[in-house]
Amino acid sequence: ANLIDRIEATLRDVPDFPKEGILFKDITPVLQDGALFNDITEHFRARYADQKIDAVLGIESRGFIFGAPLANALGVGLVLVRKPGKLPADKVGIDYELEYGTDRLEMHSDAVKPGQRVVVIDDLLATGGTASATVSLAKELGAEVVECAFLIELGFLAGCGTEPQEPSLDATQHQ
Ligand code: IMP
Repeated sequence: ANLIDRIEATLRDVPDFPKEGILFKDITPVLQDGALFNDITEHFRARYADQKIDAVLGIESRGFIFGAPLANALGVGLVLVRKPGKLPADKVGIDYELEYGTDRLEMHSDAVKPGQRVVVIDDLLATGGTASATVSLAKELGAEVVECAFLIELGFLAGCGTEPQEPSLDATQHQ
């Protein structure tokens, strides 16, 4: 089976988590499948190997899980994009809108240098709010965001308000 089919077959849908009415995509069975986890990392590595990537930006917290092995496989550093109050040194932050209320993400000011080419990674793309906030932060520090990578895209939400440009290799579609 191809990688996307294997991911879809392994993901667990959990109804009413964390709240009633939400169908949560649980990626833990994917992580527990060593061969699948490895193939996912290899897929992303191959996609970015020739893109002159300087750093991988992982979004807290499941973006860390996929970002760390990818950074390692590419031979570049991992930058943590964190929830407020977690990073100890000089940082930049951005507030962004959620369906109800706002949230905030922060990065260390010295985590990326102007002109560096970065890939942003997270487990799941829903509205795109989290990823676009991360892109804004990275740009504020002068980075060039080559692409945002996700394991799963909630297709019906059309992340960032656009339809996927092509049957994307880097996201699994869900209805
Ligand atoms: P967005 O900002 O609306 O695109 O939401 C994406 C963020 O919410 C990511 O950081 C995801 O980890 C998280 N998220 C939303 N829904 C789910 C889910 O069903 N499973 C796992 N993570 C989710």
